[in-house]
Amino acid sequence: MPLTSPYRFAVAMFAEDGTSLGTVAAKRDWGPVHEWTRFRFQRRGQLSLDGDGSASVLPVWETTLGEPYCRGYRIQIEQPGRVPLCSDFPNTHFRDAASTVASVFVEQKKLREGEYYSYLVVAQPAPVQPESPGGLRVCNASPPVPARNASLNIFLTASTACGTIDDSDMPVFVSPQVLEEAAAQTRAHEGTETGGILIGKLWRDLAVAEIFAQVTAAVPAEHSIGNHVKLTFTPQTWTAANAALQLRNRDEILLGYWHSHPVRTWCKGRSCSLDAQKSCRFAKDFFSADDEDVLRAAFPAPWCFAIVANDTAFTDLTFSMFGNREGITTPRGFFVLREG
Ligand SMILES: [Zn+2]
Repeated sequence: MPLTSPYRFAVAMFAEDGTSLGTVAAKRDWGPVHEWTRFRFQRRGQLSLDGDGSASVLPVWETTLGEPYCRGYRIQIEQPGRVPLCSDFPNTHFRDAASTVASVFVEQKKLREGEYYSYLVVAQPAPVQPESPGGLRVCNASPPVPARNASLNIFLTASTACGTIDDSDMPVFVSPQVLEEAAAQTRAHEGTETGGILIGKLWRDLAVAEIFAQVTAAVPAEHSIGNHVKLTFTPQTWTAANAALQLRNRDEILLGYWHSHPVRTWCKGRSCSLDAQKSCRFAKDFFSADDEDVLRAAFPAPWCFAIVANDTAFTDLTFSMFGNREGITTPRGFFVLREG
């Protein structure tokens, strides 16, 4: 499904005293929010699982200031002969773009290091690009959602929530064996990052209009290269995961990956006290830029997610899950199925 962008978004930056610093084009990857929006309507049963309509990213004008000032943006999915499906998003999604611009202004001495700044989001119509013959068309070839029918309620009654469940997230159910194996593998590799590829199924409950995922197994990334700060999947890891899918022959798909964070080793290296570790930002719900790169590159589907095993010195191993919420990788809750 192609995503067109008939407007160009920019951030208008202001210094602490209100002085205008300039307006700079806001570079954003619209892929994750576009995928999230499409999947949101597929989950609700409002878009077919192979829904392949064109979509666009549009400004939502500020109520009082009007054009070109935005109070947010909209992803609009066209449906031939029907009202388009829309999701609106806030200007806070431009925070990273504004922060990048701010650091350039600091380098240019327009802004002092640590100085407070504010920004407005503006949008201007983009010049129409002539279609060059033989030119590449940017196209997002989203695969159909491979979901089978099942009852969400049966899964809910057979599981326990872990972390904070947000109703806007696709429910994810994890088999307890997967977490037990991940815990054992983490302990066996104490001090270095280890991990694996999560496989399972996508289910759809037509009665409640929801799609949910079930993690049935994890393929250990035996060929991965792990040191204490980073885990890299090698081509052999992917071969092993695909071989496992074929061998199991249960119509499973790749759902994401898990890896460990040897927080106890990180903290030891920085001589953090046990008490300090308890409030350490790495101890729980920490997802690094490298982790994000792996998720985006290897598991770009909007239903994919990552699990992190937090190995700290002050408590038993805990698990955090991260997924695409409104196009942004966010810590999220999940369900652990009960044995049997
Ligand atoms: Zn990590």
